[in-house]
Amino acid sequence: MRPFKKIDVQDIEVLRTFVPADRFFVDNIHPDYSHDEMMIYGKKEPEVVIQIKSAQEASNIMKYASEHNIPVTPRGAGTGLCGGCVPLEGGIVLNTSLMNRILEIDADTMSITLEPGVLLMEVQEAVKNAGFLYAPDPGEKSATVGGNVMTNAGGMRAVKYGVTRDYVRGLEVVTPTGEILELGGKVAKNSSGYSLLHLMVGSEGTLGIVTKIIMKILPSPKKMTSLLIPFDSLSSALKTVPEIMKLPEVATTIEFMEKEVLDDAQEFLGKEFPNRNYPAYLIVSYSGNTQSHIESMLDMATETAMKCGALDVFLSDTAERQESIWNARGAFLEAIKNSTVEMDECDVVLNIDQVAEFVDYTRECSNQYNVRVRSFGHAGDGNLHVYICKDELDDETWKKTVEEVMDKFYIKAKELNGQVSGEHGIGHAKKKYLEDSLGETQMTLMRNIKRVFDPQGILNPGKIVD
Ligand SMILES: Cc1cc2nc3c(=O)[nH]c(=O)nc-3n(C[C@H](O)[C@H](O)[C@H](O)COP(=O)(O)OP(=O)(O)OC[C@H]3O[C@@H](n4cnc5c(N)ncnc54)[C@H](O)[C@@H]3O)c2cc1C
Repeated sequence: MRPFKKIDVQDIEVLRTFVPADRFFVDNIHPDYSHDEMMIYGKKEPEVVIQIKSAQEASNIMKYASEHNIPVTPRGAGTGLCGGCVPLEGGIVLNTSLMNRILEIDADTMSITLEPGVLLMEVQEAVKNAGFLYAPDPGEKSATVGGNVMTNAGGMRAVKYGVTRDYVRGLEVVTPTGEILELGGKVAKNSSGYSLLHLMVGSEGTLGIVTKIIMKILPSPKKMTSLLIPFDSLSSALKTVPEIMKLPEVATTIEFMEKEVLDDAQEFLGKEFPNRNYPAYLIVSYSGNTQSHIESMLDMATETAMKCGALDVFLSDTAERQESIWNARGAFLEAIKNSTVEMDECDVVLNIDQVAEFVDYTRECSNQYNVRVRSFGHAGDGNLHVYICKDELDDETWKKTVEEVMDKFYIKAKELNGQVSGEHGIGHAKKKYLEDSLGETQMTLMRNIKRVFDPQGILNPGKIVD
C-alpha cells in the first residue's frame, strides 16, 4: 500500500470548501483530539479536524480523502478506552459530535431515529420522557450514541436487555470511498442477505462513518429495585452469580465490586456508601411492572444468595439508597484512575461460571509482580474490567510489568475460552491480543472484509486489523 499523503496547503484549500469556517480546524486544534480516555495508549495530533453536520459533508470529505490517500479518523466524544479515535497516522479527524439531533421517536414502530452525536444521557432522557425505555446503559453517559454503536457498547443492563447491537435497526453510513448507504430501517426483523448493518456495528470506525441511526426502544418497566449483597470474599460472591441467573426471571443487572474499589469511589466522590465494611458485594436488580412481582424475585434472589454464603442482604428500595449505590458504581473507573498516576485496562469477557477463577488469577499475578490490581464489572454477563495501577513504580519497571501481566491475563482468558473485549473494543491497544485469540484464519477474513470496504485503508488506519 502506498504511504498516506501529508495534508498540504492545496488540500486544506479544498477541504475548507466542504464545511463552514467555524467547523474547520488546522492551526488551533484542541489537544483532546490527540487521545481518548486511556492516556497510556498514546497521543497523536491530527493535521486537520473537521466537524461535520451531514452525511453529504462526510461523503465529500471521504471522496477527496480517498482520491488523495489521506487518512481519516472518525470521532465521537472521545470517551473510548482502547485508543479507537486516536489519529495514529495524523490526517483528518472527522468529528460527528455536532450531528446531535433527535429526529423522531416513533411510538408505532417503537423506534428512535437520531444523529450519531446525540449523547447517551440525552437519548435516555428523551426516550424516558416519551414514556419508553432506551435499554443499553453503558457507564459513560457523555459518550455519543454513534460511539456506542461503533464500539457495540455494553453496560450494566446487558444481562437482561443485551448490548447496543441488539437495538440497532438501521444505519446511514458513509463508506471510505464516499458512498452514502442506507442499511436496515425501522423494520423489526431482517433476513435479507449478509447483514452489513451488524458488521458495521462494533467496527470502531474502520468500515464507515455513521451519520444516522435507527434504534429499537422498549416499553418502560414501572419499577426497579436493587439488592446490595455482601460476602466474605469476591470468590464466593462470584460463585453465587450462576445460581441467581438460574432463577425464573433474568435480573436487570448483576454487578460485582470489592471493598478496595468502593473505598476509592468513596474518596473520589466524597460520599459515604451504605453498609460498606464487607470485603465484596454483588448488586442485583430486578425491574418489572408490579411491586408484588419484583418482591417475589427479590425474595428468591435473597434466599439463593444466603444459601450461597452471603453475609446479609440489604434492600435498596428508596431513591436515596439506590442513588448512593449506583453513583458509587458509576464512578469506579474514574475513581481507580484518580487513585494512581497511570493504569492499563483489561476488558475480557468470560463464561459467567469462570469469572471467579479469572479474578483469583489476577490476584496471583498482582502478588507475583508486586503491582496493584483492581477489578469490578458486569458479573451477570461475565464481562470484567481489570486495572493494573502504576502507583510508585518507575517507568522502566512499569512498562515491563504491565506488559507481562497483561500478556498473562489474556493468555488465561483464552485458556478459559473467553474473548478479548466484552464491550470496550480493540482500537489499536488490544490488536495483539485479538490476533493471539482469534488466530490467522479469522484475522485474514477480517482483513479481507476491511479491504472490501476500504481498499486504500484510509479509514481509521491501525485499528482492529492492520
Ligand atoms: C467512565 C467511563 C465509563 C465507561 N463505561 C462503559 C460501559 O459501561 N460500557 C461500555 O461499553 N463502554 C464504556 N465506556 C467506554 C466508552 O464510553 C464507550 O466506548 C463509548 O461507546 C465511546 O463513545 P464516544 O462517543 O466517546 O466514542 P469515541 O471514543 O470518540 O470513539 C470510539 C470509536 O468509535 C468510532 N466512532 C465514533 N463515532 C463514530 C461515527 N459517527 N462513525 C464511525 N465511527 C465512529 C471511533 O473512530 C472510535 O473507534 C466508558 C468510558 C468511561 C470513560
